Amino acid sequence: MDKITIIVPCYNEEEVIELFYSAVHEHVEKISDCKFNFLFVNDGSHDRTLDKLRALAAAHDEINYISLSRNFGKEAAMMAGIDYADADAVIIMDADLQHPPSSIAEMVTWWRAGYDDVCAKRIDRAGETWLKRHCANIFYAVMKKFSTSYEMQRDVGDFRLLDRRCMEALKLLRENQRFTKGLFTWLGYRKKEIPFEVQPRAAGSTTWNFVALFNLAMRGMTSFTTAPLRLMTLLGLTVSFGALTYMLFVLTMALLYGDPVAGYPTLMTVMLFLGGMQLLALGIIGEYLGQIFHESKHRPIYLVDEIDGKRMIYAPRRLPTECNTKVSD
Ligand code: UDP
Ligand code: MG
Repeated sequence: MDKITIIVPCYNEEEVIELFYSAVHEHVEKISDCKFNFLFVNDGSHDRTLDKLRALAAAHDEINYISLSRNFGKEAAMMAGIDYADADAVIIMDADLQHPPSSIAEMVTWWRAGYDDVCAKRIDRAGETWLKRHCANIFYAVMKKFSTSYEMQRDVGDFRLLDRRCMEALKLLRENQRFTKGLFTWLGYRKKEIPFEVQPRAAGSTTWNFVALFNLAMRGMTSFTTAPLRLMTLLGLTVSFGALTYMLFVLTMALLYGDPVAGYPTLMTVMLFLGGMQLLALGIIGEYLGQIFHESKHRPIYLVDEIDGKRMIYAPRRLPTECNTKVSD
């Protein structure tokens, strides 16, 4: 019998946890030849999410939970789930019931047909603001232009079924600044997209705001392509060429026709334009430098505080022990 774990990252979801469990349980019960269990990841919630998880885990055998030592973000919480899941496949779902449990059966069917990564694709972005929708369009267009070797999947989020092969491969990618959506694409394997309609949140409120989404988009861009750097090089070359041509023109006019030097407005425009370009280029380099800074520390992606009622400790670095040979005089 196939074993599937449903991974649920939770951050301040006390109002929906029980609702989520009963709704999903009702659906997975009907799927034959499959043993489902739940792995909730409490991502440093400040409300009573952890208490609810403890109670649920005590009441149901098929529920396990991991509690992280603080809020590490959804990307890290998902990784914790994948690290600890022991199953033939996992399904990642939001706790707020925005991902319809009715899609699970379809995912399993495609998985059994041989697909490794069955992802749910939003069929409409109706509930979103004009700004969010257009920013998403720009993001996908830029990523499509820049990443040549693989294409970022459009309107596909974290709601997906991953085969063991994908789980194991993801475990190799221990980068700190995670952009999981891109990592799924990077993995490759056999992908199948199934349509779904995003449901309204069952209760509570979203933690994503415009700034958080912008940061995620920047991270996505800087961790998956160096094309912006190349673009800056090209821009620099073009501007330099333009400047050289203009310089020759100004010199010719001054030497041959005694044209007076162009005044303050021209100078100001050129200076501000070049200054702006330089700051933009520095900013882009800075973004990449920031990524290197974070990755170079090799910190773990998350720390676990508690698993199924047991407090966790990370083994300290091993201290040197005495060896047999004596120090020579
Ligand atoms: N989440 C998390 N850590 C965070 C933020 C969110 O684990 O720091 C979880 C959250 O509990 C939910 C899922 O990620 O299960 C999606 O979050 P949310 O509904 O706020 O985002 P949206 O659906 O608006 O994209
Ligand atoms: Mg949500």
